[in-house]
Amino acid sequence: MFALTPGQPVQIAEGVWRLLALNPGMMSGPGTNTYLLEGTSGLIVLDPGPEDPRHIANIEAAAQQIGLPVRQILVTHTHRDHSPAALALHEQTGAPRLGPCVVNDNLQDQHWQPDHLLKDGDSIQLGALGELTVISTPGHVSNHLCFLLHRHGMLFSGDHLINGSTVVIAPPSGSMGAYIRSLNKLLDHDVHVIAPGHGDLIHQPQQAIEQTISHRLKREHKVRSALSERPNSSASDLVAIVYDDTPAFLHPIAEFSLLAHLIKLNEDGDATVNGGRYTLSS
Ligand SMILES: [Zn+2]
Repeated sequence: MFALTPGQPVQIAEGVWRLLALNPGMMSGPGTNTYLLEGTSGLIVLDPGPEDPRHIANIEAAAQQIGLPVRQILVTHTHRDHSPAALALHEQTGAPRLGPCVVNDNLQDQHWQPDHLLKDGDSIQLGALGELTVISTPGHVSNHLCFLLHRHGMLFSGDHLINGSTVVIAPPSGSMGAYIRSLNKLLDHDVHVIAPGHGDLIHQPQQAIEQTISHRLKREHKVRSALSERPNSSASDLVAIVYDDTPAFLHPIAEFSLLAHLIKLNEDGDATVNGGRYTLSS
């Protein structure tokens, strides 16, 4: 357990620090975690965070405190609480930006421009810390990447897995089918601890991943039951039934994930769709 105090870098492993951004909220929990990793000639900033001059100043202050310059900027995905600070940090330090390509929906950082595109299986050499491997994990959003630091068995999971809640899967760039496949894919890797995009470290990662898969499949089962009782329903028709365990003020957000479940049922051949209304296949 490490303190989640905004602005103060906390060393969470040899050569790895966490810096909490000042953006707590309903969707971001305590705020976005920016990670600083010791590379060959300086620091790698992983998920620089939102466009907040205070957080950008805190990243630079943390680099000074650690005594290493910022050399590279990595992002897990391009939601507005993860990548926008990359631009200012790139302009101020000259550090190249590495990450996925842009996704065109209305939820993305439109200023994200990678200097170097990363894809599944790529690896980044970190000097004494060894190799950081890129694992493509579409689902939360189609361009999502996780990074595995083999030396510590530490997975930087962005918003694929966060501590304290489940993540929203918002179609069309989010996909429940892809999300579950990406979770299963992680089970093949040797992960000892998860350093998420929001919240504290997640120990017992295999268990956390399996519980997340099982939670999503239980929800899918609830969607099937609701659909069998109410054929020809849209996501908004079903949200109060399927998310009866979730406070009503969260239903507008839950509706995104519910739509993702309905799309998955359709993709799996288990439901038909007509004008945004779903019916279980007979
Ligand atoms: Zn996100």
